[in-house]
Parts: sequence; C-alpha cells; structure tokens
Amino acid sequence: MSNKLGILYVVATPIGNLEDLSPRAVRILGEVDLIAAEDTRHSGRLLQHFAITTRMTALHEHNERAKAATLIQDLCDGRSLALISDAGTPLVSDPGFNLVRAAQGAGITVVPVPGACAAIVALSASGLPTDRFIFEGFPPVKHAARVSYFEGLRPETRTLIFYESSHRIVESLADMAAVFGPERPAVVARELTKQFETIRAASLADLNIWVQADPDQQRGEMVVLLAGAPLEEQARDVEAERVLRLLLAELPVRQAASLAAQITGQKKNQLYERALELMRETTPGSKA
Ligand code: SAM
Repeated sequence: MSNKLGILYVVATPIGNLEDLSPRAVRILGEVDLIAAEDTRHSGRLLQHFAITTRMTALHEHNERAKAATLIQDLCDGRSLALISDAGTPLVSDPGFNLVRAAQGAGITVVPVPGACAAIVALSASGLPTDRFIFEGFPPVKHAARVSYFEGLRPETRTLIFYESSHRIVESLADMAAVFGPERPAVVARELTKQFETIRAASLADLNIWVQADPDQQRGEMVVLLAGAPLEEQARDVEAERVLRLLLAELPVRQAASLAAQITGQKKNQLYERALELMRETTPGSKA
C-alpha cells in the first residue's frame, strides 16, 4: 500500500479505425495497473492488436455504481486506472460518469486522454454550422415520446447532434421530417472511419427517401445532425406563442388553438398540444 493516490485516466479509443488510437493512449493503457472496460471481450481485441497486456475489469451500465466503489479503493491504494468504453470517448453516451464523479470526490486526479468521439467526428465533416451546437445523445425509442421530444427541440437554433440506432433510423428520420419540417438541412454520418463510411447532406425529406430506399443505409452505426431552426422560424414560433396565450385567456383550448393556427399559419395540432401544456402550467393538476 502506498500513500500516493493513483491517477484515473479517461482514455478515448477508436470508433472504427484502429490507427486513431493515439500513441499516448497506447502508452498509458500499457502503463496503468488496471483497465476498466465496458466489455472486456470487445476491448481485448483492441489491446491485443497493440500488444497491451494490462489486466482488465468490467465496468458497464449495470454494475457501474458498485464497481466504482472498488475502483476508487484501488486508486486510493495507489493503483492507476484507465477507463475505456467500447468505442470513442467514455462517458459520452457511455458508462463512466459515476466513476469520474466518485474519483473527483475522493481527491483523485482525473486525466483525460483525448481521441475520437463520433459526435464531433461527424460534426467536423458535416458542413453544418459548428460555432454553436448541442449534443442530444439517443432520442427516445418509442414513437410518441420521440415526437414530443423533437417538438421540444423545434425552436433550437444551434446545430443538433443525435446518436441513432440502425434499427430506428427510418422511423426517427420520418419523425424529424414531420416535426422539424421536410426542408430542414440535415446530415447522416454512417460508419465513420470505417470501410463503408458515408456522409450524406440533404434536406430531411430527401434523406428520409434515400435511407428508406437503400437497406445499406440502415446498417451500422450512425450520427444524425440537423441544422438549427432558422431565425425567422424561431420568430414565427414566438409570435404564435404570443397569439395563443392571448386567445387562451378568453377562449376554450380547442378554439384558441384553431384561431391561433388561422392567424399565424402554424400547425393546429402543434398549437393545440402547446395550449394544453400552457393550461397545465397555469392550473396545476388540471386535465384540460
Ligand atoms: N462514446 C462514443 C463516442 O464517443 O462517440 C459513443 C458511444 S454510443 C453507445 C454509440 C453510438 O455512437 C452509435 O450508436 C452511433 O450513434 C455513434 N457511433 C459510434 N461509432 C460510430 C461510427 N463509427 N460512425 C457513426 N456513428 C458512430
């Protein structure tokens, strides 16, 4: 046992192309006492490729809290640790948050070892504005939840970045087109850094048709990026909200939404949903 605390390294690994593992990452993975990996079998192949023989232990979403406690003890005992996930940067839609938090709480130094992150890799080649963007991770799996989640993001003016599964890409793009409008510029970035890397920029309507028509585009790993709402659209939303609030003060919900739609040109069902929300906000517990 030593008085010196160990260091927790958060090490990014490739998202496909093994050449993207940095020499620094290779050195640190070889030098630490232990590697905490999301899936030891999966990461075993990476380590084997680089002839790294460091012992591994599993840290995944199902055991993270309990496992973090034993790993913190290891760090307190002076052992150094590298955290890796199956691909890319740990903690980004991947396990590790509890461990990093606990390490910070225990006064352990946390050192990031940067590398690939699919969201940033996709953004860098998307051609969409990069000055301001938001990362949203995976949208909800179920259609109704996904639609209302997208509704909440409709006025967002920054570039939006989503991870999406190949099983849901068709439905998700269709929902995006319905909520954000078919003309909204978007990008699907698939199989980045791999043999079948494809980066396609088009309107949501065109991307929707293209992905539906080609089963190859429904395979592998993908990032979906969306241009933020144009400022005029945001202004229209603000105006619709103002009109809706005024009408709601005088009229029943359905009538207020219908009139607001006629006045502003916005979709009636969207205004109706928003009116219900506003009623719930002003009269908690109401089922308006
Ligand atoms: N931590 C990872 C990172 O830094 O990118 C992300 C892990 S998350 C569980 C996996 C998702 O990332 C995939 O479903 C996909 O949306 C995206 N992704 C990972 N690798 C990718 C690749 N090579 N090409 C496109 N998207 C990728």
